Amino acid sequence: MAENINTTANEEEAVVSKNFIEMEIEKDLAEGNYTHVQTRFPPEPNGYLHIGHAKSILLNYGLSQEYGGKFNFRFDDTNPTKEKTEFVESITADVKWLGADFEDRLFFASDYFDKMYECAVFLIKKGKAYVDDLSAEEIRAYRGTLTEPGKNSPYRDRSVEENLQMFEDMKNGKYEDGSKVLRAKIDMASPNINMRDPVIYRVAHMTHHRTGDKWCIYPMYDFAHPIEDAVEHITHSICTLEFEDHRPLYDWVVRECEFSEPPRQIEFAKLYLTNVVTGKRYIKKLVEDGIVDGWDDPRLVTIAALRRRGFTPSSIQKFIELCGVSKSDSSVDYAMLEYCIREDLKLKNKRVSAILNPIRLIIDNYPEGETEYLEVSNNQENPELGSRMVPFSRELFIESEDFMEEPVKKYFRLFPGNEVRLMNAYFVTCTGCEKDADGNVTVVHATYDPATRGGNCDTRKVKGTVQWVNAPTALRAEVRLYENIVDEEKGKLNEDGTLNLNPHSLTVLKDCAIEPSLKDAVAFDSFQFVRNGYFCVDCKDSEPGKPVFNRIVSLKSSFKI
Ligand code: ATP
Ligand code: MG
Repeated sequence: MAENINTTANEEEAVVSKNFIEMEIEKDLAEGNYTHVQTRFPPEPNGYLHIGHAKSILLNYGLSQEYGGKFNFRFDDTNPTKEKTEFVESITADVKWLGADFEDRLFFASDYFDKMYECAVFLIKKGKAYVDDLSAEEIRAYRGTLTEPGKNSPYRDRSVEENLQMFEDMKNGKYEDGSKVLRAKIDMASPNINMRDPVIYRVAHMTHHRTGDKWCIYPMYDFAHPIEDAVEHITHSICTLEFEDHRPLYDWVVRECEFSEPPRQIEFAKLYLTNVVTGKRYIKKLVEDGIVDGWDDPRLVTIAALRRRGFTPSSIQKFIELCGVSKSDSSVDYAMLEYCIREDLKLKNKRVSAILNPIRLIIDNYPEGETEYLEVSNNQENPELGSRMVPFSRELFIESEDFMEEPVKKYFRLFPGNEVRLMNAYFVTCTGCEKDADGNVTVVHATYDPATRGGNCDTRKVKGTVQWVNAPTALRAEVRLYENIVDEEKGKLNEDGTLNLNPHSLTVLKDCAIEPSLKDAVAFDSFQFVRNGYFCVDCKDSEPGKPVFNRIVSLKSSFKI
């Protein structure tokens, strides 16, 4: 009894250790730096989201839930050149699908352009910002290097009045693109180059996907982002490591703009995966070059591609959880993602027969024209999924590799004279085969033992079990098998910087034979095809009654957790 109580107490104490961001948040709450927690996911609408973004989404959303706070979903649409409405739509769908419930907290950074302009004017009035006439190259040359300090611009000491007038003129379209910028007045000798009077506004006569032609000046990311966070009362602005050196500027902006309860930035390491392509730039190139069939090609790891391939939100959530959060860059094995989807589908999916490379098997002693129905369990590991009736008749399809006219050593499947079990059906003995003019086997012949119905026999054993699909009722369907799109072992990139593509990343099997119970399967339905892995109905290329199946993952892996 006493022992039992102890066990329970220990189990309760065995709390999962906190990651460094949780520790920072808890410290902030304990010290009263913040009274609530509010996080955000701020994508730029310039491409589709990928598995790395899923980490950021689930991390930010998870923290808001953990601390009873709020989660904002905000498009960081301050750079009109690359942004598209198509991306706004796909990103929104992906965030929802992943389960990050932002409720009505959807925002657009472009909605704060007035506020950002106001902040810039405020800084000018404080003597903390100035209009500069130097060209982009001159600004670069004046900036100095890591070892040398920068030089002040000759326009740095313009009066507040002159700056206010010129900034207003910038806004009113008086100047050409690139002719003037607004810069923060910080310190040209700062050891941190980001603090050497960074540009905070530029002139750009561009049409914005939301604000149209209202603006011809646009704020720079490092100025806009902290203001977006502050306006939304974000407490913890979580971003990736490349922004670590920008943090002093982030802090400068929220301080000098005098926001109350300013947000703080915390950086974590990006998620990288082996054998896949995550950079937006590379994915875009694959799409544009027609190497993949769009941003959702199942070989990619965009969220849309993972969804199309058959991954589930819970498998991705589990994967991100296993990855953890850290401060140092590392690459996670793609096999871990596969492990997560296998675990997720193992008990949920029906196990069905699908013959990927079919040849006919004729049971010569089975009555012609007769069909019987055999009861087959839907998932032996999960009786809750019930059973179904599967048709069986004289003509079946089997995998071509399940027959060998001249068997190799330790081959236990069909060969002349050998008896095997047809899965869930009967024992059959192979009697021979037919071949075409080229010598390819087209039909295998066998006889069955009616006393072995269900695949059971008390008097003798067989070493091989072969799966089959009833030929007259088989659903003929296209099945697609995938391999990694890049060849990691030889290096992801070639010497010229292009991707080292795997020529075998897609195999299309046009005429597979699948049991008829799948004929009404609809997009995103997934199944275990016995022996071959987990498959999902493709959402793009399937037609009613004519599904196309994507292999999500094969059944086995050496990956262990
Ligand atoms: P890419 O590197 O693919 O071009 P990005 O960082 O430019 O992506 P954003 O739309 O700016 O894309 O990213 C939105 C958020 O997602 C940012 O907070 C960013 O830090 C985060 N993020 C991007 N890539 C990863 C990644 N690989 N792992 C974790 N978070 C990421
Ligand atoms: Mg970015």
